[in-house]
Amino acid sequence: MNYHNYYPIDVVNGLGTRCTLFVSGCIHQCRGCYNQSTWSPSSGHLFTQEMEDQIIADLNDSRIKRRGLSLSGGDPLFPGNLDAVLKLVKRVKASCPGKDIWLWSGYVLSELSEQQQEVMSYVDTFIDGKFEKDLFDARLEWRGSSNQVIHRFTLD
Ligand code: SF4
Repeated sequence: MNYHNYYPIDVVNGLGTRCTLFVSGCIHQCRGCYNQSTWSPSSGHLFTQEMEDQIIADLNDSRIKRRGLSLSGGDPLFPGNLDAVLKLVKRVKASCPGKDIWLWSGYVLSELSEQQQEVMSYVDTFIDGKFEKDLFDARLEWRGSSNQVIHRFTLD
C-alpha cells in the first residue's frame, strides 16, 4: 500500500484529536473529487513497517492524547489496500487500548466484500459512499455530500 499524507495530530477528521492517514488508491472517480492525486495506487509513498510503528507510537503517546486513528484517502477499502489496512486496524485494536478507528470510503456499507467487511469489524465509525457533487453541502460535518452516511457502530 502507498499513502499520501500522515498527520500525527489532526482535529478535523473525526471526533477529538486524532492521527490521520490518507492512503493512495481509489477506483470511484467521483466528479468533483478534491483528492484526485490519490487515485493511482502507486502514487505517494510506500507505507512501511516503520510508518505503521510510528502510528502505533503516536496513538500511545501520553503527552498528546489522541482519541484514535482516522483512515481516509484515496480509499482505505481499495482492494489493493486491504491487507495493509487490515493489519493496521488489527494492531491498533490490539496495541492501543481505548482508541477508536474512523474510516472514509467510496463504497457503501451494503456492497462491501467479505475482506472489506473484515476490516470494518475493527472500525468504530464508517463514513460511506461516493462524493456526489450535486449533493455537496458545506454545512455537513465529516462528509462532503448528503448521500454519504455516517455509521457509528460504537457510541461513547
Ligand atoms: S471516493 Fe473519495 S478519493 Fe475516491 S474519487 Fe470519490 S471523493 Fe475522490
